[in-house]
Amino acid sequence: MITCDICKARPAQFLQHHAKRRVCKTCFENDILSRVKDTIKRFNMISEGDKVLVAVSGGKDSLTLLDILANLMDNNKIVALSIVEGISGYNREEDVALVRHITRMHGIDHLVVTLKDIIGYGVDDFMHAQQKLKVRSPLSACTFCGIARRRVMNSIAREIGATKIATGHNLDDEVQTYIINILRGDIVRLIQSHPLSAPHAPSLIKRIKPLRYVYEYETTIYAYIKGFHFQDTECPYINQRPTLRAKIRSMLIEIESKAPGTLLNLITYLDTVIEPLVLKYQKESITLPQCTKCGEPTSPKRTVCKFCTLVDLILQASRVGKDG
Ligand code: AMP
Ligand code: ZN
Repeated sequence: MITCDICKARPAQFLQHHAKRRVCKTCFENDILSRVKDTIKRFNMISEGDKVLVAVSGGKDSLTLLDILANLMDNNKIVALSIVEGISGYNREEDVALVRHITRMHGIDHLVVTLKDIIGYGVDDFMHAQQKLKVRSPLSACTFCGIARRRVMNSIAREIGATKIATGHNLDDEVQTYIINILRGDIVRLIQSHPLSAPHAPSLIKRIKPLRYVYEYETTIYAYIKGFHFQDTECPYINQRPTLRAKIRSMLIEIESKAPGTLLNLITYLDTVIEPLVLKYQKESITLPQCTKCGEPTSPKRTVCKFCTLVDLILQASRVGKDG
């Protein structure tokens, strides 16, 4: 029997490649919990008095996040939110049932909303609108979905008085985001993806990613240990995912497989070197302009926000054939 490299007593069950060690189930779980706890502390993600809205899609990352936060915090300070995107053939009912199982177990409130209920349109509606308008270079479903989801998360957080929004982004996701912003030379986004950056408008609720130092392979193991039957059906719009991210993802997987631990070193390094920039940028605080249509904050130099532009497209399509 190979014993666990941490407790030296129980049988080892899992290999933590990045740390070059074999660990038992208990030590694996304890390691993940303590790393997430350290991450929350290091970046002051959750303080006394915070109410956290946890965005739970039903995938392995967000289920892991929900379970870990439920173990680390007062469960009365957590509300789970699942958003049904309105994509036909992509059954959200079942996924929501999985989330419900975990929230019940921990006694956590669980809100389920559809994009259609909150903003009037789902992802399919947006794609049909583009088809109807014969848009020459249509936007991807992921663009609409991402923007709409963020809008809904923020407005629900405000409505229920949540002070933080937690998402299940893991280490692999976060390193990809850093690399994309570096390759694009997008310093503003680079700084914004740092965990210490603050939102630029009082109406934007701070988003936190407590799993940013946990590898994707580790959230898979965690979900497996806990017996979470996470949803792994692919979104039918998967082929519309940004190609740059997919390329960087496979490049990073290759690097990590040749030199395990590289991604953890990289994010630790980047978080450290970008930190002074965040503090400097925060001092020169900018105020975002307000969208002239919805009143929500929008990017500098924009008068109408991206979200309203997308909704406009759907409205335009709904008028086609009705006019004249
Ligand atoms: P993704 O953009 O699909 O990689 O998801 C990143 C994170 O966003 C997940 O870990 C969740 O925390 C959150 N999220 C994604 N989709 C949903 C959804 N339908 N409902 C609630 N949260 C979601
Ligand atoms: Zn707007």
